[in-house]
Amino acid sequence: MDNQQKGIIFNIQRFAIYDGPGIRTTVFLKGCPLRCWWCHNPESHEPLPEKIEGCNVRRGFDQSFSMGKDEIGKEISVNELVNEIVKDKIFYEESDGGVTFSGGEPLMQPDFLFEALKECKTQGIHTTIDTSGYSPSEVINEAVEYSDLFLYDLKLMNDDIHQKYTGVSNQLILKNLIELDQLGKKIILRIPIVPEITDSNENLRAIRGFVSYLNNLIEVNLLPYHRAGEGKYQRYGKENKMDKTDSPDSQNLESIKQFFSELKCRVKIGG
Ligand code: SF4
Repeated sequence: MDNQQKGIIFNIQRFAIYDGPGIRTTVFLKGCPLRCWWCHNPESHEPLPEKIEGCNVRRGFDQSFSMGKDEIGKEISVNELVNEIVKDKIFYEESDGGVTFSGGEPLMQPDFLFEALKECKTQGIHTTIDTSGYSPSEVINEAVEYSDLFLYDLKLMNDDIHQKYTGVSNQLILKNLIELDQLGKKIILRIPIVPEITDSNENLRAIRGFVSYLNNLIEVNLLPYHRAGEGKYQRYGKENKMDKTDSPDSQNLESIKQFFSELKCRVKIGG
């Protein structure tokens, strides 16, 4: 393999257990068209590498694959990336795991993503895309060819509220979800549970109603908002609009889990 197609990533997390089945390597691609208020990866937003002045950036990179400590994002070839991914192939095989491409929004770099996915498939590695669904339909349709599974975020069903809290309309996201299902791809739905934003009865009822028509929904993950990303906003000098919000309480999460259990698929709190 000598694939020199280049892309920009900002992290590689090995031994990940919350980004799809089994033990996985999660690759975080840089760039996202959304600006969710609760995002815990604000360093993913801009598509190009960024210089950070006067701070120490810590990452989950393997020692053999580090970036400059004052820089977020690094250009990497498919060749280099897949060489990293295959290092843990034995763990994928033993745990029914694989590789997950996340972000940011991985579908923002389709040429790089598809080449990387193709190489992983050639190596016999299970592939997953973790997406906001906000992508041109033709890109999603092509992604179906190379990805075994989709982790698909659904946040808010009311379009005005969606625009307010993410910066974009949800219409394309809903359309792509239906198309993905019609193409027969397995989908794990991910719903961020953010107090007083996504956790209203009205929103959760609308999500459940919408996804109840999907044929290939295999699991629902309820992702509780947490404040772990808070320090990053300070560190990177970005505005945090969530500084007064706490994590949802466990009783509320359990009742939301119960509410979604009517879908007849597995429902989990967490990824
Ligand atoms: S889609 Fe994901 S990465 Fe993009 S802003 Fe929202 S939470 Fe952050």
